Amino acid sequence: MRDNSLKSVPDNLEAMRKFSEIYAKRTGTFFCSDVSVTAVVIEGLAKHKDNYGAPLCPCRHYEDKLKEVSNTYWNCPCVPMRERRECHCMLFLPKDSEFASESQKLSSKILREVIN
Ligand code: SF4
Repeated sequence: MRDNSLKSVPDNLEAMRKFSEIYAKRTGTFFCSDVSVTAVVIEGLAKHKDNYGAPLCPCRHYEDKLKEVSNTYWNCPCVPMRERRECHCMLFLPKDSEFASESQKLSSKILREVIN
């Protein structure tokens, strides 16, 4: 049976999937060759958006997530990514990264398959 507390997640999941594709294209970065890395990070961003109203980076530990959201530093795309193209989650990888694929696309179908 479906958990209704997660009802709005699919919308945010799709929003974050689209954001990731557009932002990768805009920054000339690429998704990881291991699609599960990309999918899990996108899902984490969507869950944070669902629970805290902003896509707080899912790859860090926070004492107080609401406070971090209002600080905005780690809201995706975070300051290190915007300033230096550094994404420690490996969602946005430079072309020459050994982990980068040649893709800036991840279909909703594959995303859902991987996280389900
Ligand atoms: Fe987004 Fe920055 Fe986290 Fe990468 S490291 S997923 S750009 S918030």
